[in-house]
Amino acid sequence: MTGSPERLPCTYCGQDWQTCYRVRSDGRTFLLCPECDSVWLPGDDRRKPPVHYLPDLFPPHLEHEVWKLIERCDPADSP
Ligand SMILES: [Zn+2]
Repeated sequence: MTGSPERLPCTYCGQDWQTCYRVRSDGRTFLLCPECDSVWLPGDDRRKPPVHYLPDLFPPHLEHEVWKLIERCDPADSP
């Protein structure tokens, strides 16, 4: 058993969980704190402070629509 991600609180604000989200257009998955928009990409150390931020994942002109471009996903759905 690998892969079943452990539920960890946000290491930045601690106010919410690191939650699995997916980019609708290309299926990329990442972990997001819905509270402060911190992002952990696959390969990032989830126990360390985040080095990505939600708007950074998209070109600047899409910055204001990022929540429309992503959806929650169930980690169990991931291959
Ligand atoms: Zn947070």
